[in-house]
Amino acid sequence: MHAGPRGVRVQAMNADGSLEDDFVIAGQGRLVHLCNAPSPGATSSLAIAEHLVATALERVR
Ligand SMILES: Cc1cc2nc3c(=O)[nH]c(=O)nc-3n(C[C@H](O)[C@H](O)[C@H](O)COP(=O)(O)OP(=O)(O)OC[C@H]3O[C@@H](n4cnc5c(N)ncnc54)[C@H](O)[C@@H]3O)c2cc1C
Repeated sequence: MHAGPRGVRVQAMNADGSLEDDFVIAGQGRLVHLCNAPSPGATSSLAIAEHLVATALERVR
């Protein structure tokens, strides 16, 4: 066993200090933000992308 390099894990935290373990998609006006994409974010990435594109298109109509 040997030491590896450090990593940074993005993890959204709720206002009460708990960790957000679900996808968080927020937006305002013409903006759409994917604020949290925990596991299975990689497996779900294409579905998330489709959802974001559909949401963005709805917001510009
Ligand atoms: C240990 C572990 C196991 C996991 N296993 C699974 C799994 O089995 N299946 C699954 O579906 N998901 C898994 N996930 C979750 C998956 O990795 C994430 O959901 C997914 O990577 C999120 O994608 P992302 O594009 O939002 O972020 P990331 O993949 O983290 O990409 C963000 C990128 O932005 C770069 N970056 C950050 N800051 C800056 C900056 N200031 N300037 C330039 N670049 C920057 C980072 O280097 C990184 O390349 C796992 C996660 C972890 C930690």
